[in-house]
This record gives sequence, C-alpha cells and structure tokens, in this order.
Amino acid sequence: MNTIESEDMLGITFCKRQKLSIERGEGSYVWDEQGRKYLDMTSGWGVTCLGHSHPLIINSVIEQSKKIIQNPNSGFTYSPARARLLQKLTRVLPPGLENIFFSSSGAEANDAALKLARKISGRSKVISMLGSFHGRTYNTLAVSTGHENTQKYLPRDSQTSFVALNNITALENELDEDTAAVILEPIQGEGGVRMLDGGYLRKLSSLCQQFGVLLIIDEIQTGFCRTGHFFAIAQHQPGIKIDILTMGKGIAGGFPFAAFAVSGDLNSKISLGDHGGTYCGNPLGCAIAADVVDYLDSHKIAGRVLSMGDFLQVELAAVARKHSHVIDSIRGEGLLWALQLYSDTQVDLLTSACMERGLLVTPTRDKVLRLIPSLLIEKAELKQALHMLDSALSSVVPEH
Ligand code: PLP
Repeated sequence: MNTIESEDMLGITFCKRQKLSIERGEGSYVWDEQGRKYLDMTSGWGVTCLGHSHPLIINSVIEQSKKIIQNPNSGFTYSPARARLLQKLTRVLPPGLENIFFSSSGAEANDAALKLARKISGRSKVISMLGSFHGRTYNTLAVSTGHENTQKYLPRDSQTSFVALNNITALENELDEDTAAVILEPIQGEGGVRMLDGGYLRKLSSLCQQFGVLLIIDEIQTGFCRTGHFFAIAQHQPGIKIDILTMGKGIAGGFPFAAFAVSGDLNSKISLGDHGGTYCGNPLGCAIAADVVDYLDSHKIAGRVLSMGDFLQVELAAVARKHSHVIDSIRGEGLLWALQLYSDTQVDLLTSACMERGLLVTPTRDKVLRLIPSLLIEKAELKQALHMLDSALSSVVPEH
C-alpha cells in the first residue's frame, strides 16, 4: 500500500484536498514521493518564512538539540536560548510591549491573551471582527469567523460580539462596561487577505482607551516581515496603544512555536500561575526562533519583501487583467496576496490546475486563492509561479 492509500484508509482525522504526498523541501520547492518538483507558494500556511530546510534552521535544531531540548521544571528555570530570543524580539517589537510569553501554537497564544484580558479587566465580553481567524481552541473559535462556531462547538454564552471589519460605528455600538477586549488581525489572512481602511485602527484604538478596553493585535499570519514590515501594525503607527500582540507561524520558520507580548502595565497584573504550559519557552524552539528573528532583522528581509511585493503586484495585476473572466480583483501587501475569484468552484479548479503544472497555492474562504511564498523567494521563481498561474487560469472556464 502506498502512502496516499494508507493515509486514506487509516487517517480519519484530516480531510485531504489534494492527492499529494510531500517527502522533502528545499528553498521555495518541495518534492513529492515520486520525485515530482513543485514551486511552493503556500509556505505551509505562511510558516516556512526562510523557505524549506534552510541551513540556518537545520543548524539551530542540531546545535540546540546537542545542548538541551527541554529544561528541568520548564519555565521555572532560566535558559540562555530563551534569553537570546527575548533580546532579539525586544529589538523588533512595536513600542510599549515589554514582556513576552511563549507557547507552541498561534491559537494557544491567542487563547492566553483572551484569558488574561478577561482576568485583568474583570470583564467578560470580547469583540471580534466578522471573517477573522484566531485559532481552533475553545476560546479562539469563539472569536473566529462569526457566530457559526458557537452554534457548532461552543457553549451558547461564549460572550463574543462580532462586528463588520472597518465599521467603526458598529464597534462603538458594541463597546460597553463589560467589554474586556477587542481582538483583530492587521490584515485578515484566512478571511481572504482583507485590509483595514486607513485611519480605522487609530479610531478603534482611541475608542478602546476611552472605554478601558484592551486591544489584542493578532500578528500570527502578518508578523515577521510577511507584509514588508516586521509587524504589519507598523503601517498604522503611531497612535495605536497595543495591550497584547500575538505571534506565531514565521517566528521559528517551521518549528511549532508562538508567543505573545504584553504592555508593562498589563504585565504587572499577571501573577505566577496565571499562565503556563509544559513546552512554553522550550530551549529548542527558542534557539530556532532567535536565529530566525536575527536573520530577518540583520538581513533586512522586510525591505526585500516590500520590493518583491511591488514586483508581484504589478505582475499579478497584468495576469488579472488578462483573465478577468476568472479573477475579479487582487489585493495584498508584501508577500501575502489574494486573487478574488467569482466562485469557490473556480478556486478549486484553479488550485488543481496549478498543482498539475507544479505550483502549490492556498485556497481560502469566500472565493479566494492565496499566495504566501517564502520571504526569500527569488524574482525568477516568482516569474515561474506567474507563468504557471497564467497557464492554469487559461484552463478555468468562466462562470457566466
Ligand atoms: N491567528 C491567525 C491570524 C492565523 O492566521 C492563525 C492560523 O492560521 C492562527 C491565529 C492560529 O494559529 P495556529 O494554527 O498556529 O494555532
């Protein structure tokens, strides 16, 4: 029995969208078990920011594993690897965020942020944006997408209100004396690369301050240079008071790792035992993340992403004009882009047509196909991706 047959028979937990068994990767490419090469424009949901099997990450894994992987008494003991990561992160974090906590996934970081916001404020309600995505734990599902998660999985009183993105009046109407926090992504990633209107975040931040509501910024998808800034929030500064900022995905280039940073005044209200976890701040994850953050910072990857993003925008716009029967519009920043199609069927057809040509792309909600390549992708590789995309688009028939 081959891998695909045995996973289909034995693996009942994951739903597979593509008959593809990936064996290895290098840079922007991956290879399947039959040795076929694919250009990866997904970077594993935006995680492998330095590409696949980057020597820096391989070296980090080996060197730190030789020293220690998990501390005795975990977070209760100090770690040189953790100290190094803290120093690197404080160099790049937005101002005002002084204390950092680590976890193993983005959802855990958001979950902790929500829990602590409720504890610190003594309030219970959280306001989130329709179309947002913050994870798949109980707390984070409750603030993701809209009320459908509550209907499917959660207790009825999950105490979340959803408002439409960019509608400041809707937000104002929802804020009250029981509101603990507002949580939002600077660009909605899973929601289809939806941007914030200019000035929206500044108004939102000032309303939060007026009502004593904490602001949680989820940079799990947008952080670590993805949008051409170390954190996407930089474009909206100054004037935004961030209480908690959550990070994940690119932070350790593929190793499961995440973090959240809190403002100094919030930190003074967090007590020992409020949060923890077996793997929180484990030395292996810290060492890898420290090397990745240092690489992104010292090699000025944000600037590189901006210029690659400018190139991609111009080229994608030309592709969109040529295939206007399939592509309604494009939007994005840096190396996070969406093609807005006219139907989800078209998205599925295009995803398969791309794969047949050796190009991997990420379909997401609301008729969107997303491109999230490695931040180190070369221009020649982007041109190759655009060429395959162009050919795949020619095979997709118009809906109308
Ligand atoms: N927040 C955002 C903005 C995300 O895009 C994601 C994952 O896609 C998460 C949170 C959840 O992160 P994880 O899958 O690591 O739990």
